Amino acid sequence: MLFDPFKRKINYLRISVTDRCNLRCRYCMPDEGIPLIPHEEILTYEEIVRIVRVFATQGISKIRLTGGEPLVRKGVAELISRLSRIEGIEDLSLTTNGVLLKEFAQDLKQAGLKRINISLDSLRRDRFSQITRKDDFQRVWEGIEEALRVGLSPVKINMVAIKGLNDDEVESFAHLTFDLPLTVRYIEYMPSGNGEEWKEEEILTIPQIKARLEKLGPMIPIPPDRWDGPARRYRIQGAVGEIGLIGPVSSHFCDECNRLRLTPDGKIRTCLFSDEEIDVKEILRAGGSDLDLKERLFVALRAKPERHQINTHQFKKCQRGMSAIGG
Ligand code: SAM
Ligand code: SF4
Repeated sequence: MLFDPFKRKINYLRISVTDRCNLRCRYCMPDEGIPLIPHEEILTYEEIVRIVRVFATQGISKIRLTGGEPLVRKGVAELISRLSRIEGIEDLSLTTNGVLLKEFAQDLKQAGLKRINISLDSLRRDRFSQITRKDDFQRVWEGIEEALRVGLSPVKINMVAIKGLNDDEVESFAHLTFDLPLTVRYIEYMPSGNGEEWKEEEILTIPQIKARLEKLGPMIPIPPDRWDGPARRYRIQGAVGEIGLIGPVSSHFCDECNRLRLTPDGKIRTCLFSDEEIDVKEILRAGGSDLDLKERLFVALRAKPERHQINTHQFKKCQRGMSAIGG
């Protein structure tokens, strides 16, 4: 088992497989001109599999693939299939914007993917285009239907609520849970390296969201299961699906943090909001041993900060954008 200096058990690795994306969400990426990681710097699937294999021997048991948009990288289902066979990996999931999901859901399921998170910030086609700068709402919606149809479970929808942009849709998203076996998760708007300027006053906080949802019916708490991250789970009385509330800004849950992140170019990040990076790619490409890789993992563990600084004067926006970290 892996523990950091603050006695947190670390068992979760989020892997960003690419910094490329087929959308341009305003809070995440500029429309154009974003510097991309050169192809030769991006970890190969062999390199990712080796890292996971070594880290799994030390206590990493939960993996999430993310991006950029993971489904724009060729062969992601094959990567999932290889990761799912690694001893010690008990949970394998994916976060996607859903644009290519209709095409890939069946392959992903067959490859061994169990659960999936789909990011969707508006149920209105015009507003979806305004937020993502692409007219792909219908494709994402069909992707969600396909994920349900092929039996991925749970299917979670992640909504970032931003005041003045989509905050009037909080209730519409919750209504989905009355008809469909989906989990709708509300995530607070966070500062991101490459997004439009982040303003604290634009955050719709989780307490504000919860107060609005409570007007739709009693919110019955659901006890956490072992794969739950920082989300607090509820079911609105009468609903088939669930609600998840994730408030990294208003109620930082750093004391429960169990994760490390791996960037597309092979750096371990110890916190979403810290630019501290530990290079594992240089070990791989210099012919390093598994022991060398384990040592880098321990360096990362020791470097994990106690908490993020978003609500403090010390906070500085990260150099690396969310799309090259994985959110
Ligand atoms: N492209 C995939 C997607 O959108 O699901 C995976 C990568 S994306 C960076 C992962 C998550 O980060 C998405 O749910 C997205 O909404 C979230 N995200 C990106 N920028 C954010 C921000 N500034 N605040 C809150 N969430 C953000
Ligand atoms: Fe792409 Fe996801 Fe960022 Fe949107 S949030 S631009 S889909 S990486």
